[in-house]
Amino acid sequence: RAKRAGGGHTFFNVLRDQHTSAEMEMLTGLHHALERGEFQLYYQPIVDARSRTTAAHEALIRWLRPDGLVNPMAFIPLAEASGLILPLGRWVLREACTAVARRHLKRVSVNVSPLEFGQPDFAAHVEQIIQETGVEPRRVLLEVTENSLLDPVRSSEVLQALSGLGLRLALDDFGTGYSSLSALAGLPVEILKIDRSFTRQVHEQSREGQRAKELVRAMIALAHAFGLTTVAEGVETAEQAEVLEALGCTYLQGYWFGRPTPLRARDAAAP
Ligand code: C2E
Ligand code: CA
Ligand code: CA
Ligand code: CA
Repeated sequence: RAKRAGGGHTFFNVLRDQHTSAEMEMLTGLHHALERGEFQLYYQPIVDARSRTTAAHEALIRWLRPDGLVNPMAFIPLAEASGLILPLGRWVLREACTAVARRHLKRVSVNVSPLEFGQPDFAAHVEQIIQETGVEPRRVLLEVTENSLLDPVRSSEVLQALSGLGLRLALDDFGTGYSSLSALAGLPVEILKIDRSFTRQVHEQSREGQRAKELVRAMIALAHAFGLTTVAEGVETAEQAEVLEALGCTYLQGYWFGRPTPLRARDAAAP
């Protein structure tokens, strides 16, 4: 049997010593899941804060195992540790780009794992997928986290290469790490996604609520001063949405506007 990209089988042996049997079982299942077509992308709307119209969708992976649906938090770390995230990440990007190329979605936002981002051929793979699917690159947004940007020189090169392809770039989970906005200002990142841990309390009258609100206000003001667009994640209530809109946040995303759902359900619902 041919060796898989990412050296999954080599890692597999190493991992056997480091993981519980439950994790080993999941890892075996993960390896088969890709070839069995058990992964599916769900899409969550990202809405314009003022007009409340959908501007894009974020692709969120699900593993539809015969015994039930598995959320990414349960398997992404294992996929990263085993290297399976590399072929999986390419599948995700191809699938999301295809959805846009077929006009099922206007724009799509795709999560990139630090392991994928760190591969020397990452930008080349992205370019290949853009060409294969025929998607307009400006309709594709890549979400990277601060963990992808630890090496400033290399990350700047990769981001420039991706931006050169015409793709747009977002920093995910902003505020949870240590990157400063001034460091970001030199990078071709256009969008900041403010982590749910900050948006959760913005509407509360409590001391914590007031503090969260001031923090988010400062983040948005600084981001906009640096020419970045903002997205608030995890908006669950009308009150949160109102406060975030009043604070000038550009886009909102969360259960209040829509949960992640598969494309097929959306198609079936359309007239
Ligand atoms: P993330 O990129 O920060 O994605 C946002 C997560 O918050 C998603 O969880 C989403 O379903 C959830 N969410 C959205 N709105 C709300 C809300 O109003 N309230 C609450 N409580 N949660 C909300 P999900 O889909 O379980 O994904 C978890 C994480 O797994 C993602 O966090 C991302 O880091 C990772 N992930 C998901 N799909 C992919 C993928 O295709 N590739 C990679 N590398 N990572 C992925
Ligand atoms: Ca994300
Ligand atoms: Ca996020
Ligand atoms: Ca997150």
